Amino acid sequence: MWGDLLNEIVQTRGERAVFRCIRRTPGISRVELCERTELTSAAVTQIVKRFMAAGLVREIPAKNAIAGNIGRTRIGLAPVDSAYFSLGIVVRRHDIQMGLVAPSGKVAHAWRMVAPTIERVASTLEDVVEAAGEIPIVAVGVGLPTFAVPWATASDITATIANRFDCPVYSFHNGSYAALAEEWFMEEEVPSRFFYVFIGSGIGGASVLRAGNEPPVITCIEAGHVGIDPHGERCFCGNRGCVELMASPASLEAHYHINIDLGIEGVKGLSERTKEAVGESLAYGLVSITNVLNIHYVVLGGYPPEVLDYLYGNTLRKTLAGYRNPFGHPLTIVTSRLGDLAGVQGAALGAQDQIGTVVDRNAVLSYR
Ligand SMILES: [Zn+2]
Repeated sequence: MWGDLLNEIVQTRGERAVFRCIRRTPGISRVELCERTELTSAAVTQIVKRFMAAGLVREIPAKNAIAGNIGRTRIGLAPVDSAYFSLGIVVRRHDIQMGLVAPSGKVAHAWRMVAPTIERVASTLEDVVEAAGEIPIVAVGVGLPTFAVPWATASDITATIANRFDCPVYSFHNGSYAALAEEWFMEEEVPSRFFYVFIGSGIGGASVLRAGNEPPVITCIEAGHVGIDPHGERCFCGNRGCVELMASPASLEAHYHINIDLGIEGVKGLSERTKEAVGESLAYGLVSITNVLNIHYVVLGGYPPEVLDYLYGNTLRKTLAGYRNPFGHPLTIVTSRLGDLAGVQGAALGAQDQIGTVVDRNAVLSYR
């Protein structure tokens, strides 16, 4: 099947590096590929030739070609986005998202189900397969929250998904998959290590170590369960005074009758004083985590940027203005521009790079 074919074509370390560079930087030239992968020009030419013959890669005008330049147009390389799909799935407390994602990371089709059930998951999977049509689905990534969802067990959800596909199916923490998408679309100038804060119903996160042509190293971090008040309320994790209790959307919803799912309109009811307390709590939590990890670049993600800036970002930046960590660095806080489908994109990209836990070992071993 096609998943096997992809594994056959993109096999060696060099091939994976070249394919990753082309998918990530459409329009990259062969010369740039040599520079980035440190492969010889002959090796890159050979690899690209095979990819083109297999229909994975095509030629386009080079990304950095200067119009009107003397001589012939420089040639760049791009992935063939209709060659295959990977499927990204994000399981959350009140909804589930699915997306067919092209090799470049673009979402081709997306679905969102509110108040899902196992039966509806199964029927949406049929819609997904139908939408993919002739284009093969080569890998599936399932993002799960750290804590249980109320509508089904994680194993029922993943079994339903794994049984529908004969390609490899992986599972990973939602926040870690979202961090993966963040890294995929990030500018190269961003520091090689950053902390990604995933605001879902709770507060999660991941530290990301960027690795150039290799997939990044991602470590799930329970950002919400850093204690900032030893005399605070007892948290469900067993700790006291967790950031989660002071600043997570779930806590805010419980205490102030807001609804973050409605966007800015849903959170406008919070007073300036409450917003300040929330932002300061998160700031203390982030300072603790980033000091331990010696990271000084933080990306806030999970909800639309305007909501995150309104609720957290502006106070965070104000609270941390002038702050220097013990290593002398200020803490830079930015808001993710990826939007609502970051988790879906990350799950799909991660599955392609085989990141996460194999969901159903038998299903994977027996895929045809
Ligand atoms: Zn806790």
